[in-house]
Amino acid sequence: MRQTHLFTKTRREAPKDEVSKNAQLLIRAGFVHKEMAGVYSYLQLGKRVLEKIEAIVRDEMDKIGGQEIRMATLHPSEPWKQTGAWDNVDVVFKIQSRTEKEYTVGQSEEEIVTPIAKEYISSYKDLPLVVYQIGQKYRDELRAKSGIMRGREFTMKDMYSFHDTQEDFDRFYALAKDAYLRVYDRIGLVAKATEASGGSFTKKLSYEFMVLTDAGEDDILYCDTCSYCVNVEVAESKENETCTRCNSGTLSRAKASEVGNIFDLGQKYTKDFDLTYQDANGEKKYPIMGCFGIGITRLMGVAVEKFADDKGLVWPESIAPFRVHLVELSSDNEEVKKEAAELYRELTEAGIEVLWDDRDARAGEKFADSDLFGIPLRIVVSEKTLAAGKFECVERASGHTSHKSISELIGHLTT
Ligand SMILES: [Zn+2]
Repeated sequence: MRQTHLFTKTRREAPKDEVSKNAQLLIRAGFVHKEMAGVYSYLQLGKRVLEKIEAIVRDEMDKIGGQEIRMATLHPSEPWKQTGAWDNVDVVFKIQSRTEKEYTVGQSEEEIVTPIAKEYISSYKDLPLVVYQIGQKYRDELRAKSGIMRGREFTMKDMYSFHDTQEDFDRFYALAKDAYLRVYDRIGLVAKATEASGGSFTKKLSYEFMVLTDAGEDDILYCDTCSYCVNVEVAESKENETCTRCNSGTLSRAKASEVGNIFDLGQKYTKDFDLTYQDANGEKKYPIMGCFGIGITRLMGVAVEKFADDKGLVWPESIAPFRVHLVELSSDNEEVKKEAAELYRELTEAGIEVLWDDRDARAGEKFADSDLFGIPLRIVVSEKTLAAGKFECVERASGHTSHKSISELIGHLTT
């Protein structure tokens, strides 16, 4: 993509009302536009990042047998009243129509997915069933100060599973936990799973997936040897104590941000909606249900907080809006312009995503913008590189500089 075609522009100053690093940088770089506290629009660059995260999540959920669907966002109030959530969950938006009928918008979808599953589950042969969606969610938050990390509107992957036995649920629970850890690993984040009691009145036991970051809202204790990890709030252990699980590691304390959760819902919703199946003996039973969430926009916010430096955003390759930022410093030199166009064509044809800064602007401005965008590799084309016969390549994260020919570059970027 040519940068002259990009309608967004960078800005020097962040809006005064933004206190979180993620929102300040994303707004300055033109990735998002703030509509109100906790509500953002995702512009071209931001949308590209979201789609990369969604593709990773989709790939891992498909691999464990999830079937992707898209559920309604606008919900009738009746199923929410049936489960008790209408009166018991304080973040549920309540909307009244002009005919005074009541609605809500999705903040979780058990009230929608359970009646859908009821249409198709009748026998133990229909189980297990695993469906998921990636879509918008809404929470009536009192305060929203964490930028895109805790919004009133956000994008989430929510998956729901239905099982005939607790053993089958446990089997899938373990599978999903591994898939979650793979998602975070692919984004370059170190996540730890803490065991916690359920987050709301319907939830029994749960795993919370925490990424270590100073911007986190939670404090966790984790073992430096085994996978033991617990929220400080509920922990009996303390920092620097010996881990009670492996009896060898030491517990460290860290700030962390929740980027996913898994809940054992038991038979709460299948009983509420009278969803039953016949087992092998013809007996009527209620399936056991699980709920598996990953905050997509939240993950993007955590990645910003974790990797950004004092110059701007820093994206891991797997979720960067582009792989390469091609910066042309031509000062009206036609040879340089031609060389940049040729490099853009070759890289694009090799399947590499390139943002080409073809603007008529000073080098200092171009480099400052390039640092702010955080695209993993900057390639500079100038009179100097033309004379040397090699392009200057700068890695955004490390600042490491090298000089490469076109064929060396394509080899480097496609392996
Ligand atoms: Zn341990």
